[in-house]
Amino acid sequence: MIRVTIWNENVQERMGVPGNEDVNRPGLPQSLLDQCAEMRRVQTDGAMHNTLRDLINEMPEAEVRHIATLEMPECGLSEDVLNDTDVLIWWSHIAHERVPDEIAMRVVSHVQRGMGFIPLHSSHLCKPFRYLMGTTGTLRWREGDFCRVWNTCPTHPIAAGIGDYIELDEEEMYGEFFDIPKPDDIVSMSWYAGGELFRSGCTWTRGYGRIFYFQPGHETNRSYFNPQIRRIIHNAVQWCAEPEHRTEERICLPVAEPMKNTK
Ligand code: ZN
Repeated sequence: MIRVTIWNENVQERMGVPGNEDVNRPGLPQSLLDQCAEMRRVQTDGAMHNTLRDLINEMPEAEVRHIATLEMPECGLSEDVLNDTDVLIWWSHIAHERVPDEIAMRVVSHVQRGMGFIPLHSSHLCKPFRYLMGTTGTLRWREGDFCRVWNTCPTHPIAAGIGDYIELDEEEMYGEFFDIPKPDDIVSMSWYAGGELFRSGCTWTRGYGRIFYFQPGHETNRSYFNPQIRRIIHNAVQWCAEPEHRTEERICLPVAEPMKNTK
């Protein structure tokens, strides 16, 4: 069984709802509060982690072991939780900086030891992704538009069962330049009716770990309910889970003697 942990910021889910003083403060713009209410209406049981939980639970070969959120102790990402994780899925949007560096670097260390990592949508700015990439993760964006997600690597396992393209009636526009290191593979590129292009599905390896960034998934859109988008995330979980997740930190190996000459 592939052990999946879902990390959701879980801020907009609670924003504007009484009793959540850690995310509510006077003067929040009405447009933001409206967006939060719309997110709760669109996502399963009012939260992104529930949408993603159901998406993963469709996989017979995977199980959601932990749902972790920002307001939990250690952001829900203790060593025990990460040691019990083959693939970490991450969704965050407006509180990236509230994840302590110590927790972000803990995630980085586990990825380097073989844990798979799938940052989704606005997680292009989350700390673990930026720290793993070494770039700013910044991009161009605008409100929703018609989007065509082109399959640009049909031989990649993440593209298995995906046709030439997927059409999304509405998804937030993310456009180039996307400040990322050159991907190992660009599994998808997205075109928007406004004319922009975006490298929307990209893979990298860091240490022993595999990483897949995937763009669809704006909080008020229904991209995660699209069967082809779900299939890509299922495939990505399988692909990212393949390397063994090692518990020991990698160290430099002292070598006492040179290798024997084969002659
Ligand atoms: Zn968004």
